[in-house]
Amino acid sequence: MTDNVPPLPGRIVLDEIVPARAPWDHIVRLGETLRIIDLEGNQSADFLMYALHDDAERYSAQDTIAAQRNIFLRTGSVLLSNEGRAMARIAATTVAYHDTIGGACSCESNTLRYGYHTKSHHACVDNFLYANSRHGRGKRDMVSNINWFMNVPVEPDGTLGIVDGISAAGLYVDLLAEMDIVAVISNCPQINNPCNAFNPTPLRVVIAAPDPVPEACSTRS
Ligand SMILES: [Zn+2]
Repeated sequence: MTDNVPPLPGRIVLDEIVPARAPWDHIVRLGETLRIIDLEGNQSADFLMYALHDDAERYSAQDTIAAQRNIFLRTGSVLLSNEGRAMARIAATTVAYHDTIGGACSCESNTLRYGYHTKSHHACVDNFLYANSRHGRGKRDMVSNINWFMNVPVEPDGTLGIVDGISAAGLYVDLLAEMDIVAVISNCPQINNPCNAFNPTPLRVVIAAPDPVPEACSTRS
């Protein structure tokens, strides 16, 4: 563990680095906790989530926002699927809030926002398509995402911003899986706005499983 993060309870089943700009995906079982650590600060971790056993069920920003009546994700937020079921909850986070309305960067959105010369820049949608291809998913399976560690404030008139992050080195989010899920991360490669402080950096991911419940002692002699 990084020095300034507390240990996760239970048994560590995975602990690895997601390099800057890279995709990542892994199964997280019911009851396991996925921790994502912003190692160097101000690094957006774009995130998708699918039900393991039927990926027609997947994370829904709309259902999540409507149910919690708030657009930001904080400790205690329950992440709902398009079928209204709890997929995971934020068990803890050291960042004030996370975004789920800013979307994921793509070659198309880069071109619109920053000019045609950015069309060839590596983007989150490419990472998502690559990671999802390993599970047989394609463009039709690209849905609303979460941007862990990204700051998308909403002004009183409804205007969205993508501004300097509110995250910092060593801050993290812990997701407790409420069903078996496939978690997909794009370690955002964006260099045209401040979501990664114009300098994409690595993330760390840790998965912890609950300690097995000891078998009850037999009362028979
Ligand atoms: Zn991105």
